[in-house]
Amino acid sequence: MVFDIITIFPRLFDSFLRESLIKKAQDKKIIDIRIHDLRKYTTDRHKQVDDRPFGGGAGMVIKIDPVYKALEGIKYKDVPRKKVVLLTPTGRQFNQKMAARYAKLNRIIFLCGRYEGIDARVERFVDEKVSIGPYILSGGEIPAMAIIEAVSRLLPGFLGNRESIESNIKYKDKISEYPVYTRPDVFITKDGKKLRVPPVLLSGNHKQIEEWRRKHLRQVLLDV
Ligand code: SAM
Repeated sequence: MVFDIITIFPRLFDSFLRESLIKKAQDKKIIDIRIHDLRKYTTDRHKQVDDRPFGGGAGMVIKIDPVYKALEGIKYKDVPRKKVVLLTPTGRQFNQKMAARYAKLNRIIFLCGRYEGIDARVERFVDEKVSIGPYILSGGEIPAMAIIEAVSRLLPGFLGNRESIESNIKYKDKISEYPVYTRPDVFITKDGKKLRVPPVLLSGNHKQIEEWRRKHLRQVLLDV
């Protein structure tokens, strides 16, 4: 699956691309993340990507023409099953159901805004407007990373250990998680408090462990 990201801050993705499962998934060619620096699509000497808003008001607005040129340059139009996604706090709130829908695509192109956002005419070239939550960030880069991670986790082979996905969705309908613990079985705090792992988890009795986990499920995502 190919993710294209159009951004004025390409270096924000440096460590995201080079660490952990996202790095491994690229090495295994499960995903291909392509960062496009919007400034490369400007034509003026100063590589200006923004300008003042028509009608006045505070802040700057990302110009339509470099965004248009970047989209043209990406040549995604003939790819079947693709989406151009505009990241904006006014978009539809991203959830696990959308992640599952996106995981069936071949290509997603993310437009990351900054400042006061992108010239609204870009909406003509966009399939979906997406928000990652009801709060305002300074740019679309973190939302793009969040969505890429949520979608990539659903791709075959992304999680080396298939169990990790399955155990979390075992008790179907809702995506739920049970509390997890690891060594040491007793952790002692500075003031001498002993924090113990529930004994049933140390018992080796799989039936009782299953039962305990079922009882302690915490629902982490609604609307799936
Ligand atoms: N009024 C602007 C708008 O509606 O897009 C807010 C601009 S915000 C300060 C700058 C950029 O950050 C936005 O263009 C968008 O790309 C990104 N952004 C901020 N909050 C976001 C959120 N909750 N979800 C997705 N993108 C967000």
